[in-house]
Amino acid sequence: MTRTVIVGGGISGLATAFTLQERGSADSTLIESSPRWGGKITSFHEDGFTIEGGPDSFLTQKTAAIELCRRLGLEDQLVGSNSGKSAATYIWSSGRLHRMPEGMMLMAPTMVLPFLRSRLISWPGKMRAGLEVFIPRARGDEDESLAGFVRRRLGNELLNKIAGPLMGGIYAADPERLSLKSTFPTFLEMEKKHGSLLRGMMKRARPRATHGTKRPPMFMSLRGGLQQLSDALVARLPETNLRTGCRALAVSRHSDRYRVDLSDGSSLLADDVVFATPSFVTADLVEQLDPTLAARLRAIRYVSTATVSLGFRRSEVAHPLQGAGFIVPPSEGRRITACSWSSAKFQHRAPEDCVLLRVFIGGALAEELAEQDEAALTQLAREELQAILGIVATPVLARAYRWSKANPQYDLGHEERVAEIERSLGNLPGLHLAGAAYHGPGIPDCIQSGIKAVEAIAARQARGENSCRSDAPSCCIES
Ligand SMILES: Cc1cc2nc3c(=O)[nH]c(=O)nc-3n(C[C@H](O)[C@H](O)[C@H](O)COP(=O)(O)OP(=O)(O)OC[C@H]3O[C@@H](n4cnc5c(N)ncnc54)[C@H](O)[C@@H]3O)c2cc1C
Repeated sequence: MTRTVIVGGGISGLATAFTLQERGSADSTLIESSPRWGGKITSFHEDGFTIEGGPDSFLTQKTAAIELCRRLGLEDQLVGSNSGKSAATYIWSSGRLHRMPEGMMLMAPTMVLPFLRSRLISWPGKMRAGLEVFIPRARGDEDESLAGFVRRRLGNELLNKIAGPLMGGIYAADPERLSLKSTFPTFLEMEKKHGSLLRGMMKRARPRATHGTKRPPMFMSLRGGLQQLSDALVARLPETNLRTGCRALAVSRHSDRYRVDLSDGSSLLADDVVFATPSFVTADLVEQLDPTLAARLRAIRYVSTATVSLGFRRSEVAHPLQGAGFIVPPSEGRRITACSWSSAKFQHRAPEDCVLLRVFIGGALAEELAEQDEAALTQLAREELQAILGIVATPVLARAYRWSKANPQYDLGHEERVAEIERSLGNLPGLHLAGAAYHGPGIPDCIQSGIKAVEAIAARQARGENSCRSDAPSCCIES
């Protein structure tokens, strides 16, 4: 089998290494610069609380994460997000929390009465959204921003109060810059097919309801937190294939192979290298090989975010916290973008007599707020929760995580940027990309990107390209 070096031990790199091993390639090395595995996945346990520093769950609609859990024997550890009332999302608007109208599918209402009854959207806003059925299809295939699309089809109010903060929030993005084609293409397809989102939504919603099939929860996690997934991956990989606390510095050609220089002074020779690092890191690593590719990789912007988890005694929080949490539109002038009611969203996240809340700060529209130190972030989160939920109590537990330049931005033109990157890579057979920057930042997307990299390696090998020679020197050259 070919010798493979994987750079980056987040979920993308770990999934790549595990898939390679499952498919019979034992000769790979996974390099991670930090002392711990998992990258943005990090779970923390204290006094009966389970806190997620980064992702807290994955979408079930894309199946790669559930399938990976099954491959790892973690099926019995999967937990679904709570449903019914516990799944409701609220929106902070004009000084109060409004429940998202029932039947709202991200940007478009699928149920008429709850939408009409909601006091979140004004009557002119509701009427404008209703006119959507008469708005003609867009001509051409030009990349359109989330904001442009929602404004054009459903009006400004739906954009500012629901679609912008909710859908932009998922990507920590500015809706005016977020490419709809690269993030929520279903809405574009719906416009094309049905001429109207409202008509398209109604058609989609109906068959599911009539068949009465039980839908899986929209999000899933693991009983002990998502880090159970990265820990299980590490446990399944041979120790000899794993190197933490070791940074990849550069990749260069070495006859018909690649040489990966590492921060401990050693180098690795490989037939294939998978970069499962943020794209700006990958850019630095390939700079010597192809400066144009490096520039293209750097063109993907990243923004900073932060999360603050706060545990309170239940008796000290008057709000019922029945729901998944709330989002805060930027127009409301607050300093947080959202808050998950973690202990309502998932079971076993807090002791019986406590609640756990997780506040989101920063993103494309308020990056500077996420770059404060942990104490300032915690203070900010407490002040905002006091203003919004009336919580004045001192938390029994507080933990802040800063995520500097952690969220790749799927800006307008993203699809073309990624296509250019992939074209450049075509000239460097044996180099592969995985990770959040290209075809989706969610955990299932990242896992899928690792699987795709392994498939590309296998395909190259099957074609006999640049295969490992039997007289080849050892994989590791100590310099
Ligand atoms: C706050 C937050 C909340 C999120 N919530 C969710 C969620 O609920 N659900 C969801 O699906 N997604 C969520 N995401 C997105 C998701 O967590 C990430 O997209 C995903 O974890 C990225 O995984 P990755 O392996 O591609 O990258 P990373 O996790 O960033 O891993 C890359 C690794 O490469 C290492 N590295 C960097 N440079 C080098 C080098 N030179 N040499 C060696 N190693 C290097 C890094 O240390 C890191 O460990 C969230 C993201 C954030 C920031």
